[in-house]
Amino acid sequence: MSLQATMNAKKQRPRGDSTVSVHAGEARHKACDAITDAICCSSTYTFDDTQAVIDFIEQKQTREEYGRYGSPNEKVVEAKLAALEGAEEAIVYSSGMAAIVGLLMAKLSSGDEIVFFDQCYHRSREFCTKHLARFGVVTYQVPTGDFQAMEAAINRRTKILVSESPTNPHLTCIDLEQFAALGKAYEVETLIDATLATPYNIRPLEYGIDYVLHSATKYLGGHNDLLAGVIAGSHEQLENVRQLRGVMGGINSAHNLYLLQRGLKTFELRMQRHNENGLAVAEFLEAHPRIERVFYPGLPSHPSYAIAAGKMRGYGGLVTFLVRDADWRQTADIVDRVTIPRIAPSLGGVESLIEQPLVMSYFTQTPQDRQRFGIPDNMIRLSCGIEDTRDLVNDLRQALEQ
Ligand SMILES: *Cc1c(COP(=O)(O)O)cnc(C)c1O
Repeated sequence: MSLQATMNAKKQRPRGDSTVSVHAGEARHKACDAITDAICCSSTYTFDDTQAVIDFIEQKQTREEYGRYGSPNEKVVEAKLAALEGAEEAIVYSSGMAAIVGLLMAKLSSGDEIVFFDQCYHRSREFCTKHLARFGVVTYQVPTGDFQAMEAAINRRTKILVSESPTNPHLTCIDLEQFAALGKAYEVETLIDATLATPYNIRPLEYGIDYVLHSATKYLGGHNDLLAGVIAGSHEQLENVRQLRGVMGGINSAHNLYLLQRGLKTFELRMQRHNENGLAVAEFLEAHPRIERVFYPGLPSHPSYAIAAGKMRGYGGLVTFLVRDADWRQTADIVDRVTIPRIAPSLGGVESLIEQPLVMSYFTQTPQDRQRFGIPDNMIRLSCGIEDTRDLVNDLRQALEQ
């Protein structure tokens, strides 16, 4: 089979995503004959006698030991996420940032270098430039999608290439094959933060990416009621990452894991509606005279359309747009006039959320920095939830036309 044929075969996913979301990772027969997993609230796990302890230490028995090293609810969620991602292994953290920090701390040592595409979550950037820097790790940021610049930044100290796809808030998509090939050519590992895509829309590991990361706070949890993070990849490459998590902590409570497992049951259904709502809202906005520009990779006008179309199953619920001839206050007035989306940071939950990046994330930054990060005063970011498409569109219409 050709590479393309192999990839197509893989993309056909033997069992559908809804079957996987509902059943993967779960035992067929559970405690008390319950259909759901019990929430196992135990910080530690008991041994019947000294011999049982010794058997465990000598790895004659796999079992739980102490909560920081793993728990029954965590094992189920990790297996489910690995199955959804098509990965050998997934490691769950208490937040997306804990996952990024956990991976980079495990992989980088003093003197190592990391190269980033520059449209990225500002806290990921901050962790590298402010904190990893204190430990002698050097970060380079190159323009998003500029593979020549990324290649030029690679040298023998480079250990990892990092990008988001799609990026936030510009929704730029990266050619994952090209990204993986660049890493392989220089024997440098690659990490894609695919929080905005989710494994429903694209699975970066199928393109040869080494690690895929998600803030599970967003679409995977999906209900704006928990924080969590996940890294998926090969067992071998994640071994030291899991070991460091056992030292560092950053693990979830049994209750939080249960919420994530419950949220994942409807993952495919939710993603279908998020994708539908995102596209419908993007098309509505693009046709509206008060809108200057819409950023949505499912629109042919988006610079990433050619990369995303045909590879992504859908483009998610996040839509970013610029209001024509509006200053920051007139833009804020539109945000204040919508009646369904709530004003809040975050994205990917069943409730639609709206925000003006200038105010929510960049208020204290200089105009120069805002320009550098591509955040004009008239930008609005809307995370479409799973409400009825017609209601979201009508709500935006009245906010724009009032
Ligand atoms: C939210 C987010 C993060 C951080 O995740 P938390 O769960 O909030 O720690 C990282 N990357 C992207 C793309 C995000 O949207």
